[in-house]
Amino acid sequence: MRDSYGRTIDYIRLSITDRCNLRCLYCMPEQGVELCGHDEVLRYEEFVRLCRIFANLGMKKVKITGGEALVRKDALHLMETIKHIEGIEQVTLTTNGVLLGDYLDDLVKIGIDGINISLDSLDRDEFKRITRVGDVEKVKASLQKALRYPKLKLKINCVPFDGENQKLLDVVALAEDNPVHVRFIEIMPIGEGKKYHFMHEDAIKALIEEKYGILTPCADKLGNGPSHYFSLRGFQGKIGFISAISHKFCHECNRIRLTCTGYLKTCLQYEIGADLRELIRQGASDSMLEAAIRQAVLKKPLEHAFLQKDIVFEEHAKMASIGG
Ligand code: SAM
Ligand code: SF4
Repeated sequence: MRDSYGRTIDYIRLSITDRCNLRCLYCMPEQGVELCGHDEVLRYEEFVRLCRIFANLGMKKVKITGGEALVRKDALHLMETIKHIEGIEQVTLTTNGVLLGDYLDDLVKIGIDGINISLDSLDRDEFKRITRVGDVEKVKASLQKALRYPKLKLKINCVPFDGENQKLLDVVALAEDNPVHVRFIEIMPIGEGKKYHFMHEDAIKALIEEKYGILTPCADKLGNGPSHYFSLRGFQGKIGFISAISHKFCHECNRIRLTCTGYLKTCLQYEIGADLRELIRQGASDSMLEAAIRQAVLKKPLEHAFLQKDIVFEEHAKMASIGG
């Protein structure tokens, strides 16, 4: 599918639940988000039906996210079903890693094409402070288990936020000691994220170079996303940056998002898209859904304007229902 600016849209992120077993400072309030009711969240058969339609429209890659996808019952079955849809070439998962260890064998069995583990600190106290309730040892154990599958494509996602004095170099070291890529994601002013400032890519690079030497830009594109990567001498994995604000990549955006309530979002910043759940539950046919998706994609905004004030149609949903 192409949007009105000629961008090919072939990647969709599905948030399959807004529930989560962590409470990261920049994502959820302490008491948790006001959760969507069971009826509001798409049922698996609705996700699968939409995925078939997305595949017909040229969507090739699906990312399963949340909330924490692994807290939703039978999430694996959903992933396996989506893996079998004709036209879908890759199904990947983004997880906080807490429950991952329990599901790894099955994820590998269904042929998961990649797993991103979010990990903002390896330090027990700091991890607890950032996630409010998390035990980093569980995530480390999941990572160690995942590393036993040499063919599994693994990435670590870390969100640094300025002023919090995060121990980022420990996270960087994961790519030295293991064949995993470590990516730093600029915090976006959405939901709880509005309370924090992103840490500039240049500041993170300076910190890394001071300890590990020059970061050499990598020509190869790794994965489906907007990260740009660097190599460090002696490192097994690469260091990546997803810098939506300081290095805007909207011109090459290839993605759309489906919230857990079935709203098709065409840009992270705006409430612009299509309420597919409403259409499904009103009895829309596949071709009507297809038309609604096409129309929404044609209206995909050219770019975000996170640095601009007074935005019309600004997103009010929480990151957990959008899926990151
Ligand atoms: N629970 C899973 C996890 O943490 O990986 C999946 C959902 S989470 C919303 C997906 C990603 O979004 C995580 O890597 C998280 O760190 C990131 N994220 C959450 N809020 C963010 C924000 N305001 N800006 C940038 N990234 C954010
Ligand atoms: Fe949960 Fe992921 Fe949000 Fe953290 S970032 S609260 S793990 S959904």
